[in-house]
Amino acid sequence: MARVAFVGLGNMGGPMAANLIQAGHELRVFDLSDEALSSLEALGATRCASASEAAQSVDFVVTMLPAGKHVESVYLGDDGLLAQLDSSTTAVDCSTIDAETARKVGEAAADAGIGFMDCPVSGGVAAAAAGTLAFMCGGPELVFPRVKELLAGMGAKIFHAGPAGAGQVAKGCNNMLLAVHMIGTCEALEMGVRNGLDPAVLSEIMLASSGRNWSLEVYNPYPDVMPNAPASKGYKPGFMVDLMVKDLGLAAQIADHSGVDNAMGKLAKALFEQHQADGNGQRDFSSILERLA
Ligand code: NAD
Repeated sequence: MARVAFVGLGNMGGPMAANLIQAGHELRVFDLSDEALSSLEALGATRCASASEAAQSVDFVVTMLPAGKHVESVYLGDDGLLAQLDSSTTAVDCSTIDAETARKVGEAAADAGIGFMDCPVSGGVAAAAAGTLAFMCGGPELVFPRVKELLAGMGAKIFHAGPAGAGQVAKGCNNMLLAVHMIGTCEALEMGVRNGLDPAVLSEIMLASSGRNWSLEVYNPYPDVMPNAPASKGYKPGFMVDLMVKDLGLAAQIADHSGVDNAMGKLAKALFEQHQADGNGQRDFSSILERLA
């Protein structure tokens, strides 16, 4: 079992760190929030006063932070971890951040002789608690096997997407596609209903036809078609509009940097931003259906 420093114990990082303890690892934790630290301490983790203190003599560092600027400051800032770790430690950033920052940290880690991978997750708080997250990892092939072994304590599917930054690119591609097919699914269902169709029957037809997609299959956005979907629970998240807007912003950066004309992704971003501006940021992203009502 490994000694692991875990930095960032929020909605996602908290349950992920708890699962590593459950898997038998020794955890040294740091967060800016006292409350978050106390919850993990109660589960047996060692509370630390800084990321550097947490990262002393560990096999792995795991970070789960809000955005690229936090990741950059933890690894490359004044008291940055990359200058302090030795080559026996492997660092894994699970945050969802811009691919440019992930590449920058990955390259700096390679220069310092530290194994590092960007490993953003798919699956929300429920999957973090259940230990069923999907991880998409970017970084050196040689580092992947030991990262995979650690991530298995927090997730069900672990992919090596490619070199540094590839995990963030995979996440951006996936979430842009999710936004596009969710909006398309809402439009198709609303069109059917306005023309007298039962949304459950139309869903069944499209599920058996070429319109089949994840939003229809497990996350139907029309109320009362699928009892467990957020749509049938007043659009309680689930996956918040605020997070979808964040992810579409990151996807837009990837498209712009690589010169891809992602007209559908851009439109999805504009529609979700409008939905957010209308006061829906904290609701589930499938509530975008209400734009059509
Ligand atoms: P959160 O805001 O609940 O948690 C972030 C934690 O990081 C907070 O506890 C905060 O105190 C801590 N933090 C910030 N700066 C720090 C620093 N310098 N040092 C130590 N701790 C610091 O966010 P979350 O929902 O846990 O999301 C974390 C990441 O996971 C984000 O990048 C998010 O986009 C991604 N993500 C979230 C979800 C979700 O459903 N919540 C799903 C997939 C991916």
